[in-house]
Amino acid sequence: MPRKRGMRISLFKVAAFYLGGRWTAWGGRRRIERKQLRNLRKLVAKARRDSPFFRKLYESLPETRRLTLPDLPVTSKPQLMGQFDDWVTDRSLKLADLRAFMSDLGNIGLPCGDVAVFRTSGTSGEPAVVVLTSRDIECLFGIMLARLSRSQLRRLPELHASGANVTITGANGHFVGSGLAPLIGHLTRRYPEWLGMTASHALHIAAEQPIEQIVQQLNQIGDVAVILTYPSTLSILLREMEAGRLKMNPLLIKVAGETLTPALRDHVRKVFPAQTTELIDAYACTECLMLSVECACGRKHLPEDWVVLEAVDADLQPVPDGVMSSSSLLTVLTNTVQPFIRYELGDQIQFYPDRCPCGSAFRSFKVIGRQATLLQIGDVVLSPLVFDLDHEDAQRVQLVQTGEHEFDLRCEVRHEAHRDRVFDEVGRSVANTLRQNGASGFSIQRSQEPPRLTASGKFHEVIPLKRTSRLPMAARVRPER
Ligand SMILES: [Zn+2]
Repeated sequence: MPRKRGMRISLFKVAAFYLGGRWTAWGGRRRIERKQLRNLRKLVAKARRDSPFFRKLYESLPETRRLTLPDLPVTSKPQLMGQFDDWVTDRSLKLADLRAFMSDLGNIGLPCGDVAVFRTSGTSGEPAVVVLTSRDIECLFGIMLARLSRSQLRRLPELHASGANVTITGANGHFVGSGLAPLIGHLTRRYPEWLGMTASHALHIAAEQPIEQIVQQLNQIGDVAVILTYPSTLSILLREMEAGRLKMNPLLIKVAGETLTPALRDHVRKVFPAQTTELIDAYACTECLMLSVECACGRKHLPEDWVVLEAVDADLQPVPDGVMSSSSLLTVLTNTVQPFIRYELGDQIQFYPDRCPCGSAFRSFKVIGRQATLLQIGDVVLSPLVFDLDHEDAQRVQLVQTGEHEFDLRCEVRHEAHRDRVFDEVGRSVANTLRQNGASGFSIQRSQEPPRLTASGKFHEVIPLKRTSRLPMAARVRPER
């Protein structure tokens, strides 16, 4: 690798982002919006100067100091990834070098010269390669600390002192889930215990393993204070707890990477009835690690001084607050090396039209899900959440759409003797759900294959048919069970 200088994290810069973040919040809407516009224009100026891709894309636009967000064209992952070397603002960064670095799994958690590099799981097509600099990580810490409530801040030392901080995510690639904690551990190894955020208590468990092994490892750790995983993995762990095979009592459960459903929230409450276990939906993405901060009211607040998230319809036009979007556009104002500006994220979100009761001046939103996960059967469009694939005798059940009206059912059963019963009962439940939602003429086959995980180790209960075109958004979507 030709990249020389290493990454460094400066506590002074973290403190500066923290103080700046508090100052912005204290000034209310006016100061937030001014700060956002200033940061946006700085990023656009940098992109126009140092990214050949953006220089060309913005060629006919007015001067940067007159620009506002709607003036800028939308960008997409295939478009940007296709011209990666011209997209980044550092001419020495080459996609081929980054891919070569990531091909060695021994590099997980290590910087690649003066940047960190991660990949997305590619759930919605080709994986994106995301480059972060020290500045992104300093801003992440400073701003996240600035946005935590007083009670959340007070809890940090307790979380640090009461046990391990366990992440259960995919380990077969340079994903943020497995790589960020060791990277931060590496970058902060010279610092003393840093507000409980150093990686000294951080443990990673590979989500790709059989459930028995994950359970065994968690039981061996003993004191688990914080657990971060995908909702789908959490759901399986809750069932293991109910069955008495898994014993843990974390203070904080964070989920990320998939949509947290109300049904799963209820399930967590049932398994952990004492109010000492807090559940947080850490909605973020590899492209933007500080996409939201969940408050005590359960709303996600957007750190608008450094992130812009737009709720848009199928034609990528803005939808009003209070209306569910069919996609979303992301602008990350911290990352000046790899500018994400009005980047189509695909997540369906809905902004709350009113101010949050918690008092935060930052806008709040909820996440409905991802377009890529919706099923289309004829003219019926369904959310994967309408299906109930839980069965007491199965560890994992997966419904795969193999054709417009064809489905495969994959089961991982606890005992072979129960295989037929699990297939019959889950198959009946799926057929009922399809019929109740207006689908007809479908067939459900029993698959000999076991359920499969995604590249990043996520378990998707329902896998829709890969589509090349957008869903007809006039179609009715039923998001919740
Ligand atoms: Zn709030």
